[in-house]
This record gives sequence, C-alpha cells and structure tokens, in this order.
Amino acid sequence: MTIDDQSHLKKEEENGTNPKINRYWIQRYDLFSRYDEGIQIDEEGWYSVTHEEIAINHAERCHGKVVIDCFAGVGGNTIQFAKVSSSVIAIDIDPMKVQMAMNNANVYGVANHVDFVVGDFFSLAPSLKGDVSFLSPPWGGPNYCKVESFKMDMLQPRDGYSLFKIVQSITPNIIMYLPKNVDLAQLEELASLSSPPLTLEIEESCIGGKMIAITAYFSRNAA
Ligand code: SAH
Repeated sequence: MTIDDQSHLKKEEENGTNPKINRYWIQRYDLFSRYDEGIQIDEEGWYSVTHEEIAINHAERCHGKVVIDCFAGVGGNTIQFAKVSSSVIAIDIDPMKVQMAMNNANVYGVANHVDFVVGDFFSLAPSLKGDVSFLSPPWGGPNYCKVESFKMDMLQPRDGYSLFKIVQSITPNIIMYLPKNVDLAQLEELASLSSPPLTLEIEESCIGGKMIAITAYFSRNAA
C-alpha cells in the first residue's frame, strides 16, 4: 500500500466518523456513483453537492445547450451537464472547489467538455453568454430547513431577487435548485414580474420517494 493509499483510507475513516459529515458520507454513492474512483469533496461540498439522480434530471433539460453552472461547487451538477450539453461553463469562487470539480469531472471522463473558472459569479456575469443558467447558490448552511418558509433574501451571497435579475440578462432559461421549504409564491413572483413574463415549472426533487429540494425551471417561452 502506498502512502497516498494510506492517507486516502485515513481520510475515508475520518469522513465516516466525523459527525458533521457522516450523514452525508453514508449517502456517498447517491452523491457520486463513482465515489470510489477518486472523487474529492470538502466539508462544504459534502452538504451542498446535488444528489446524482437529481443532477441527471436537471441535465435532461439541457441537451445540446450551452450551460452556465454559476455556483458549481465540487461539480455534482457540472458533471451531468457535461454529459449531455454542448458545453458547460463551471464557476466557483473557491479555488479548492474548482480544483475538486475538475478532478471529479475527470473521474467521469467529461472534463474536456467544461470550462472551469475560478471567480465571483457576480463579477463575471457581464461577460457570460449561454442558453441556460443553473443556479445552486449557498442556502446559508444546513440550518435552512429550520425556518417554516425559506425566503429569497436568505440565499447567499446575494438575495434571490438580485441574483435573478442579473441572470436574466445572460440566458433566456434559468434553473434554480432551492430548499424544499422555499416560498413558492416568491418564485411565481420572479416569473410574473419578469419582462416579458417567464414560464415557470416547479419540480419536486426527490430521493427514494422523499422530497429533498425544489427545482424551478424558468423559460422565456413555453414552446
Ligand atoms: N451544485 C453544486 C453545489 C453548489 S454549492 C454541486 O452539485 O456540487 C454553492 C457553491 O457556491 C459553493 O461551492 C460556493 O463556493 C459557491 N459560491 C459562493 N459564492 C459564490 C460567488 N459569488 N460566485 C461563485 N461561486 C460562489
């Protein structure tokens, strides 16, 4: 066994016994089915990565499109977009996340379909062009589910309204991945107050029959 193998196993043990990460670690194959092939995830990544089955669903809507994954994290969504879209721009402000996302995209053999960018999405926005913006911004940590109704202004690092306004100038289609307790009336409001108004489809994102999040698909026309 090499030193690399040993430290990898040690890290695995730590993940399995770290109480903060353990409940996510036991779902590791639901997060990345190829987890054992060298997937890398940091602490924030563990609790924010999109389950693979749900990421596959999101990607279904993006066949042949240019997708901007505006808050790419360790690449859970990026990888699935890369499999079906014409190209992906994957942005994250944290250089470590981008490095891990690149590694993980390599594990899935799709890294060459992705432009990885380290940067602040809000600064990069004016220079971006594409067909679909995918938004999975931070929900403010694992406590998001403690409130009865998750409001747009609880999204990080900026509220959902300003985020949405910026994204509208980049792509005609927007997908938002949000907490299951998100205020649906606020999503309707985002769609109806847009100019022109957008079509909104709400999807319950489920794992094992249990709703774990909401996906909102906004598009400029229903056709
Ligand atoms: N969908 C991703 C998880 C995204 S978590 C996955 O499946 O792996 C949200 C990410 O937003 C975090 O990785 C965080 O580093 C990033 N982030 C926070 N503020 C940002 C900003 N201003 N610009 C770009 N990325 C940002």
